[in-house]
Amino acid sequence: MSLLEVRGVTKAFDRTPVLQGVDLDVPSGALAAVLGPSGCGKTTLLRVIAGFERASGGTVTVGDRLLAGPGRHVAPERRRVAVVPQEGALFPHLSVAGNVAYGLPRSAPRRDRRVAELLELVGLQGYEQRMPAELSGGQQQRVALARALAPDPVVILLDEPFSALDAGLRASVRADVRSALHASGATAVLVTHDQEEALSTADVVAVMRDGRVVQAGTPQEIYRTPHDIDVARFVGEAVIIPATVRDGVVWTTLGALPLAGAAADGVGMAVLRPEQVILVPEADGLPARVLDTVFYGHDANVMLEVRCPGDVLMPVMCRTQGDLPRSESVGVRIVGPVTWF
Ligand code: ATP
Repeated sequence: MSLLEVRGVTKAFDRTPVLQGVDLDVPSGALAAVLGPSGCGKTTLLRVIAGFERASGGTVTVGDRLLAGPGRHVAPERRRVAVVPQEGALFPHLSVAGNVAYGLPRSAPRRDRRVAELLELVGLQGYEQRMPAELSGGQQQRVALARALAPDPVVILLDEPFSALDAGLRASVRADVRSALHASGATAVLVTHDQEEALSTADVVAVMRDGRVVQAGTPQEIYRTPHDIDVARFVGEAVIIPATVRDGVVWTTLGALPLAGAAADGVGMAVLRPEQVILVPEADGLPARVLDTVFYGHDANVMLEVRCPGDVLMPVMCRTQGDLPRSESVGVRIVGPVTWF
């Protein structure tokens, strides 16, 4: 059951349409990522859900409460929707405890205990008296999350919350925020243009393009069964090759491959993911040559040039854990069903 439902939301600025009928469903307690390129309308969607912008059309519902719709616009402070802004934006003159307690009524009973609970949730117990300037970027971001959770919002919105963090810190803060959100039971929407962040952090991903959600599903669904070639390209690494479907088989220069799902016969493009390209002994596969290797530590991306039947050269990419020097000759086999459009 969805807790947050966005239906057909439109928004124009000076007659320029920015949101063009957005649908979004976020189940209760889930963390959803809204993923899309810069300028597709992600922040505007977040601002409409928070109530900072009025939608031109459509509805926003949380539970059975209509927050925005024809003739209705609930004020932001009455929505029980909290926002974690891009760089945390802590009050520099308030301590960590002062920041977290900011959204709580002064007379709130158990105020100190609530602050302590929240700091424990984000792994910062004992930091009550520190000032924001004495915290790392990741710690600041976690305090910002605790502050947003303090008034017990029903929905929490995070706008590119990790973009200011350096790459090393980002993965660990992401994991901390994800587990704190799950522990809090909050329903959350995270906006990002980083596909790896969306796939690794969220329970559901909504891919946005030109003011619309073009596909929504679990990270696995989005990666394995993209709705169109642009989603395939945007989410994960992909090699796109011309392909013809006949009787449920995808015919490509790399050979005949099984089709993922069903499709009528026709001419189009197939999507190959790097993990579908397997290195085998030279005699057991198509001959290929290593063009370059990009090393990431846990594995490496290898660019290959495959010599296909008819002497056609086809660039593909695979992942390996071993070292492959440039110009090395290898064999390649393509496995698994491929998506075709
Ligand atoms: P980014 O990832 O770069 O933050 P985004 O997907 O969040 O991008 P938005 O910030 O929602 O995109 O902006 C979408 C479009 O709406 C942009 O073309 C932007 O210039 C325009 N826009 C946003 N806010 C306003 C505004 N207040 N007035 C006029 N145009 C606006």
